[in-house]
Amino acid sequence: MTVLLPARRLLLVHAHPDDESINNGATMARYAAEGAHVTLVTCTLGERGEVIPPELRHLAGAALGAHRRGELSAALRELGVADLRLLGGAGRYGDSGMMGIPDNEDPACFWQADLDEAARSLVEVILGVRPQVLVTYDDDGGYGHPDHIQAHRVAMRAVELAAEQGHRIEKVYWNRVPRSVAEAAFARLQDDLPSLPFAKSASLADVPGVVDDERITTAVDGSAHAAAKAAAMRAHATQIDVAEPYFALSNELAQPLFTTEYYELVRGRAQPGETDLFAGIATGETS
Ligand SMILES: [Zn+2]
Repeated sequence: MTVLLPARRLLLVHAHPDDESINNGATMARYAAEGAHVTLVTCTLGERGEVIPPELRHLAGAALGAHRRGELSAALRELGVADLRLLGGAGRYGDSGMMGIPDNEDPACFWQADLDEAARSLVEVILGVRPQVLVTYDDDGGYGHPDHIQAHRVAMRAVELAAEQGHRIEKVYWNRVPRSVAEAAFARLQDDLPSLPFAKSASLADVPGVVDDERITTAVDGSAHAAAKAAAMRAHATQIDVAEPYFALSNELAQPLFTTEYYELVRGRAQPGETDLFAGIATGETS
């Protein structure tokens, strides 16, 4: 059976529920609103995440994973995104926890996954959806979390395997934040901090994917979808406190909520001054 999908197809590969909304919420909402097909692959259910609301702190392990799956569905409704895939099926890969803890050795965790097996699961999705554009993290996973590093490795391996099997993804992007943008946002944050519900500010080092501005190839202005992004982040209530235009994770350190999202193209050809992930791609044909 041939399923006819919209002409523009975007695939995002993320480690845990909440990463999609924090990193790409505005981008996802924008492309979904424009009629592109947006597919999210989430690799784990985040069973080892720290829970913020006291009334939910009893949740751990599989119960937390199930709860976060519900949060993820609610977030995607806010973003207008319908196509969610859990890599290998729900619960196939467990959250590995922060780098360096004994949980990293759990054979069921994503960090211990066989790379090619995990990549083949992603290739199935790629061959079904045939996206022109894939978004994931850099090789450090943005900030060194094992599941983010593994998501990167699986995504990049799947791009290769899918090409061997007849679908070449035209553009691959890594999530980025330009250093100048991050610095300016943190400067504003210092001024705003007294009026925020967060006692302290995070630092630039807490923001994943910050690089020198020259490396940024693409800026996607999602400011028209800022409310959807904030609502999606709020849906991840176990993980995120939102006070627009800021948010905090379980460490309660305020950081900027970006509604223009930035990318570095690592496969394919970037157009000068790109503001569209599909720039330069002929999307008239779906075959
Ligand atoms: Zn994550």
